[in-house]
Amino acid sequence: MSFANKDADNIVIIGAGIIGVCCALSLQERGFAVHLIDRSEPGEATSYGNAGVISPWSCVPQCMPGVWKQVPKWLFDPLGPVRLQWQNLLPAALWSIRFFTNSRPGRLRSISDAMYVLVKDNVDLYKKYLGGTGQEHVLKDSFYVNVFRGRSVPNIRDLAWQLRIDHGAPVELVNAGQLKEIEPAISGEYHSAIIIKDQARAFSPGKLCKVLADKVLSHGASFSKVEIKTLNVNPNGGYELATTEKTIKAERVVVCAGVWSAGLIAHLGIKLPLIAERGYHLEFLNPQVEVRNSIQDIEAKIVVSSMESGIRSAGTSEFASIDAKPNYRRADILKPLTKRLLPALNVSKTQHWMGIRPSLPDNLPVIDEMPDLPGLYAAFGHSHFGLGMAPGTGIVLANIVCEQATGIDLRPYRLNRFKA
Ligand SMILES: Cc1cc2nc3c(=O)[nH]c(=O)nc-3n(C[C@H](O)[C@H](O)[C@H](O)COP(=O)(O)OP(=O)(O)OC[C@H]3O[C@@H](n4cnc5c(N)ncnc54)[C@H](O)[C@@H]3O)c2cc1C
Repeated sequence: MSFANKDADNIVIIGAGIIGVCCALSLQERGFAVHLIDRSEPGEATSYGNAGVISPWSCVPQCMPGVWKQVPKWLFDPLGPVRLQWQNLLPAALWSIRFFTNSRPGRLRSISDAMYVLVKDNVDLYKKYLGGTGQEHVLKDSFYVNVFRGRSVPNIRDLAWQLRIDHGAPVELVNAGQLKEIEPAISGEYHSAIIIKDQARAFSPGKLCKVLADKVLSHGASFSKVEIKTLNVNPNGGYELATTEKTIKAERVVVCAGVWSAGLIAHLGIKLPLIAERGYHLEFLNPQVEVRNSIQDIEAKIVVSSMESGIRSAGTSEFASIDAKPNYRRADILKPLTKRLLPALNVSKTQHWMGIRPSLPDNLPVIDEMPDLPGLYAAFGHSHFGLGMAPGTGIVLANIVCEQATGIDLRPYRLNRFKA
């Protein structure tokens, strides 16, 4: 579907990660001439190395009740899922206080509803966008196989599953025999699983982003590989984006620069609690086993999936400054954890990666026109869920730019929600 925008305008998007690319797709559909800018090729930052989960049921925030009680144990366990660079203790502690205040039951439900708005159509939208590219195979239909070690049977009525069920997710508890049929490579140590059906996974998240960026370009968008050093208000109207070589002028700008977004707009008086939450992956390049779905080890908090380049195991929340060097020991711990899950896995050849989740304390992104800065828009802060939320974010953003009423409550995504 496409309709002409009121003045078929130009719009500049800073950041060609999956959020910027999906915003470009939606704005192009509305008749905008899109100019994408990134200092790298599309899809080479956080959107490159994620776990590939695309779930219409990603409506469970990280700040679940009781999580705070587990954090001290996780921090001191060498194989634990959470890490903190101690020089980052104060900002991480202040952010965590805001994060855990979102665990109150009523608040949690409203966050879950706002997450659902962004993810509910993601599989269909990705399929639509990939249609005709010849690269439809980068998306695979998939279950989400959440596996449990030991003999105690998980409770499907626990809040995390109930939130999904309440949003219509097909959730099913299976025993060890059924699990073995679904995923034969999984160790017999895992006695049960909660299966979520009707979702998808990216066979290569980086490639998915590149394919969609190519589609935008083939429909007339342009791309500049430059780094934006500063973003200023143009006294004659619109905005000026300075690179080392030139200044780009634009009437409308969308900031989709992931975790780097806050740094681009701070001098305009916009302060946000956007934190760098780093994650890692380890890829087993000659795995000699295959998994058929996205598998999450619930205790280890890792997600494992067969991808184009091998088996990818992803996880860890590491709070560090935005430019701190990667600590690849965090990727190395994924080796024993993944081998425990898949005993026949060949671990001889691996490749590691670190990416930075742009995380806000309520697990929701900012999608908004910036207050008192007409024509300057924000679409960033997608934390653990950006791949799944990207198509929905693009649509919400395009509605905001076109001032189109949709019936969607936009308040959960507003920038000024952090003022209070
Ligand atoms: C280990 C791990 C596993 C994950 N698993 C999943 C998952 O399974 N499912 C899911 O939905 N999400 C997952 N995520 C989260 C998801 O990857 C992110 O939310 C998403 O990639 C964020 O996309 P983005 O476009 O905002 O950021 P990015 O991909 O980081 O893109 C931002 C872009 O902006 C560019 N940029 C920044 N500053 C400038 C500048 N000044 N000038 C020019 N360009 C600039 C960067 O080069 C970059 O390309 C995972 C994340 C991690 C780390």
